[in-house]
Amino acid sequence: MKFTWAGGTHIGRKRSNNEDTFYPEQDGCGGEAMLVAVADGMGGHAGGEVASRAALDGAVAADGAPIDLVHAANAAVLEAVLEDTDLAGMGTTLTLAKLHPDGRMAVGHVGDSRAYLLRGGRLDQLTIDHNMAQELVEQGKITREEARNHPRSSWLTQALGFVDNLEVEELMIDLEEGDRLMLCSDGLNGMLPDEQIRPILENGAPSDAVWGLIEAANRAGGNDNITVLVVDIDGGGGGSERELQAST
Ligand code: MG
Repeated sequence: MKFTWAGGTHIGRKRSNNEDTFYPEQDGCGGEAMLVAVADGMGGHAGGEVASRAALDGAVAADGAPIDLVHAANAAVLEAVLEDTDLAGMGTTLTLAKLHPDGRMAVGHVGDSRAYLLRGGRLDQLTIDHNMAQELVEQGKITREEARNHPRSSWLTQALGFVDNLEVEELMIDLEEGDRLMLCSDGLNGMLPDEQIRPILENGAPSDAVWGLIEAANRAGGNDNITVLVVDIDGGGGGSERELQAST
């Protein structure tokens, strides 16, 4: 498999700073194993920005399965709090995926940022939000669409930066040629329902989809920071032989 990725972030129209962070920051393509991640920080005194940055730095520096990366990220945020007590109370979400050239993808997730998979025109949310609104959905008290704008959607049930023993959600997915993966912060899916995300996500190159979605979220109000990262999964990776054949 070969991966082509693009990411972008925008402060939105209501916030005074951007506390989201994503990885990798540079758009690109390649056939090597890769890590993609989105973190949405929270906390006063610039704590949100520090937390999401510390989490991603911690995850990128770590080895192992996604669950190990999320725990390393959590440790990095906890350590940053110990170093500067003004930052106490800061935290962050973290949704990350390790993509392998053989098509395996492993996802690690805590909080309410999301991973979605677009396959054959169908958009599926892969992760489950760790917030109170999701709990109400599971109890059958509100619908998924009602959860989107529910006041309790901002009450996270889990985030990095508070406790050691996180319950990291892990997923294994077999990627297929033509799949498009998206990670996003809640500044996207809080403003747009999936039915509006899908046609924009389907359109053009990864960077077109990223900036099209950010623009649409801002048009819908831009209440929060918006971060979108898109990865296209194509065949032909894992060797120059096939690329050579294709070009002759
Ligand atoms: Mg947010």
